[in-house]
Amino acid sequence: MATATATGRKYIDCSEFPSDSNCTLKISGKEDEVLPVAAQHAAAVHGHEDTPELRDQLRQMLKDE
Ligand SMILES: [Zn+2]
Repeated sequence: MATATATGRKYIDCSEFPSDSNCTLKISGKEDEVLPVAAQHAAAVHGHEDTPELRDQLRQMLKDE
């Protein structure tokens, strides 16, 4: 399993997240930058609760840029 490096940027593509809004948002940056933004976005736009479980789910969706 790849690990994040100091310069390694990750991205999360909202279009791959199960939702009914056909959202195409893509967030990229370091893991600890992407996760809070993605969690806020999921809560604000997709009605998810910002929980540790949600963040775990989001973390699994991170990909190397
Ligand atoms: Zn979205």
